[in-house]
Amino acid sequence: MSIDQAAATTGPSAERAFDVVDLIRTKRDGGTLSDAEIRWLIRAYTDGRVGDEQMSAMAMAIFFRGLDARELPTWTRAMIDTGERMDFSSLTRPTCDKHSTGGVGDKITLPLAPLVAACGVAVPQLSGRGLGHTGGTLDKLEAIPGWQAFLTNEAMLAQLEDVGAVICAAGSGLAPADKKLYALRDVTGTVEAIPLIASSIMSKKIAEGTAALVLDVKTGAGAFMKERDRAEELARTMVALGKAAGVNTVALVTDMNAPLGRSAGNACEVAESVEVLAGGGPSDVVDLTLALAREMLACAGVDADPAAALASGRAMDFWKRMIRAQGGDPDAPLPVAKHSETVVAASDGYLTGLDAMKVGVAAWRLGAGRARKEDVVQAAAGVTWTAGIGDAVRAGQPLFTLTTDTPERFERALEALDGAATITPDPIERGLIVLNRID
Ligand code: URA
Repeated sequence: MSIDQAAATTGPSAERAFDVVDLIRTKRDGGTLSDAEIRWLIRAYTDGRVGDEQMSAMAMAIFFRGLDARELPTWTRAMIDTGERMDFSSLTRPTCDKHSTGGVGDKITLPLAPLVAACGVAVPQLSGRGLGHTGGTLDKLEAIPGWQAFLTNEAMLAQLEDVGAVICAAGSGLAPADKKLYALRDVTGTVEAIPLIASSIMSKKIAEGTAALVLDVKTGAGAFMKERDRAEELARTMVALGKAAGVNTVALVTDMNAPLGRSAGNACEVAESVEVLAGGGPSDVVDLTLALAREMLACAGVDADPAAALASGRAMDFWKRMIRAQGGDPDAPLPVAKHSETVVAASDGYLTGLDAMKVGVAAWRLGAGRARKEDVVQAAAGVTWTAGIGDAVRAGQPLFTLTTDTPERFERALEALDGAATITPDPIERGLIVLNRID
């Protein structure tokens, strides 16, 4: 059943009130909820008629019992219907967005949005801030002097038409039910439920109004979904939800055992993204940017070569225009940290492991990320490393550089990095970045 059909079958009974305790019991005991029950529950929770304690119990019941193929599109549609929907149909270019489930050193959105725009597709990239060990796209871009994350819907539409790419803060009007439910899941141990993750991500993406969507579902040590089969199940679930809502959706399942590129932080990741746009940069970042760009162009029905747009400098022109349009100065020097520490390689050999989680936690502890939503991040804090998987290293060579404005943070960051690099006498090849494609 499609998401639209799911909404249509609820009819006038969607207005009926239900006993929330009955609904919790139904789900707890492995039953299914009707369309009308789901629509009422989501609306009543958003309005405050169903309490946090009741929705917590429901989220835990869903964690154990799941939502079936009929319930999930209805649940997602009900979340979308609690807020506004954006409409990009007036744009002269097709639209395609990308969503990553989050990883360490994942700066891909920065080069990808202008690159895809340079190929003729409008990219409305509504992004978030980092919480925990993975960084946030807005935090990274805010390292650029003058750059503003907040745009009105009208300004966003105008920039999409003029420049073709926008990376900005998602307004609170999109799927407000998700905002409330996500905060609740965060404190009740119910984040890791595939139907809840899929409906949370897809409700916001469908409400945003993009015609096509490419998902980057990460798996491995630094990812939210550590096991590959769970990441693939999440990818399949989200692709099905997107298609049911008429959004042309494809997912790439990608490796996040090692962090991406050579940096994790804010200003340092902007610098690395600019290197990629200038035709250089680490090969894993370039490869993943191009793989996602190809998928986005194909989903939007545009036949163009992103590698040529990168090599010609056209993507860099679009980057500068995108940054300037939001008040930033793309040529201004990026902030530099007041303090730095270096960690050297302990032995000769080859780098055969780099633990994304340890690197992410170190960058976070240095001040690049936040522990609570209200924390302020440091633009220049982070970790950079000199070698990628498979590279030869020599004992005593600088391996990691840690930067921060608050040197008292070094001790805990160095603790997090302990054992992050594995150096062995024999080389290995870095495995594939793109592990699977789901459409
Ligand atoms: N990101 C979201 O937006 N929602 C989730 O549930 C998990 C990650």
